[in-house]
Amino acid sequence: MQADCTFCQIVSGELPADLVDEDERTVAFMDINPATLGHVLVVPRRHVADVMSAGADDWLAVAATARRMARWVVAAFGAGGVDLVQANSDGSVGNQTVFHLHVHVLPRYHDDQLGSWWSPQTADPAEITQAARRLVDHGRRDPETTLGLASTTS
Ligand code: AMP
Ligand code: ZN
Repeated sequence: MQADCTFCQIVSGELPADLVDEDERTVAFMDINPATLGHVLVVPRRHVADVMSAGADDWLAVAATARRMARWVVAAFGAGGVDLVQANSDGSVGNQTVFHLHVHVLPRYHDDQLGSWWSPQTADPAEITQAARRLVDHGRRDPETTLGLASTTS
């Protein structure tokens, strides 16, 4: 628990929130400024700032609860879709404003104002391939890498 963290305070019960679900590792509650009707946040009980610093166990637990919430909001509100959005930031760029890992579960409706999350850009295919190589090279130095392209030596 981090005393000055809003989501830690919700997890501990110190700060009120409209809770929707909870389990051993996660809590789901309504966003106080909903982007659409039924906007839910899913957080790990343990304070971790973002997905990069989360253990796989907490992340998988958050993903499982987010999946459950996605099913609930579609069924409960008759949403035509649901977007799972998760922002991480070093504080200088991006969209994260609360630095306790969370997934937004956003029901989508025909008349909602959310639009698309990005506009597709045209890129040089060579640049895309170069970016892929850079990632695989990085993955070779990641101690968590055990499977896949980055685990092979060549
Ligand atoms: P992000 O910008 O991705 O970090 O999202 C943070 C979200 O937390 C925003 O959608 C806020 O509306 C929401 N939020 C902030 N404080 C509270 C709170 N006390 N209870 C519920 N949601 C909150
Ligand atoms: Zn926290």
